[in-house]
Amino acid sequence: MASVLLSVNQVSKSYGARKAVDGVSFQVQQGQTVGLIGPNGAGKSTTVGMVCGLLRSDSGGIVMDGEAIGQGPSEAKRKIGFVPQDLALYEDLSSLENLKLFGALYGLKGALLKQRCEQALALVNLADRAHDKPSTYSGGMKRRLNIAAALLHDPQLLILDEPTVGVDPQSRNAIFDTLEALKAQGRSLIYTSHYMEEVERLADHIVIIDHGKVLADETPAALYRRLPAQAALRAELSAAPSAARVSA
Ligand code: ADP
Repeated sequence: MASVLLSVNQVSKSYGARKAVDGVSFQVQQGQTVGLIGPNGAGKSTTVGMVCGLLRSDSGGIVMDGEAIGQGPSEAKRKIGFVPQDLALYEDLSSLENLKLFGALYGLKGALLKQRCEQALALVNLADRAHDKPSTYSGGMKRRLNIAAALLHDPQLLILDEPTVGVDPQSRNAIFDTLEALKAQGRSLIYTSHYMEEVERLADHIVIIDHGKVLADETPAALYRRLPAQAALRAELSAAPSAARVSA
């Protein structure tokens, strides 16, 4: 049985009087992809912000690979890579220079930094554009570069906050290909989206959140079984069935 990598336990957070996240709990197993689904304003970004340690929860706890996520740097936080909604790239630097900068912030240097940058660019399929500036990239390519930046420190868990918002279908597929490659490497993923169809291809487990609360936490198959039937099966018989068979 897979072991638990991340455990989010009864986490809550308010902004002033507004309760953005209200007692959210879910888990991510080793190697699992969890789709965190909900409409705009449901509390997805706030939840993943707390998981990464970027936001402080008001109550509850988050445990990553056996260690509590708290304030300040920690080994647990280094095991997480975060791809935020807002692109955080330096437009005046080439892609490779951007990655070297991000890698250096994680304390990487020398041959290891170079190797990680090359691996990450290859994974997101941008190796041939490494020396171009992100300003010459499409929106989807910038997103993929952002994914590469979040992978440099070799995190066990990659969290992507709505990575396909505003990108064309072809780029969306390229992002999915990258995420499938990461899955095949055995990494765990949390993928937030407001579209169920978005996560169908990737997610092993789906957590639906609205108004800051978890409404469902199950496999896609179990979730579909709970939906009302949307299609009827119509069969035509080539000959009248015998009375015995109809009653069987
Ligand atoms: P989602 O990612 O699902 O769209 P968010 O976590 O961004 O949801 O937001 C949840 C709720 O918290 C929303 O009502 C949003 O308006 C509010 N909210 C988010 N960030 C802030 C903030 N920095 N200050 C005040 N309210 C916020």
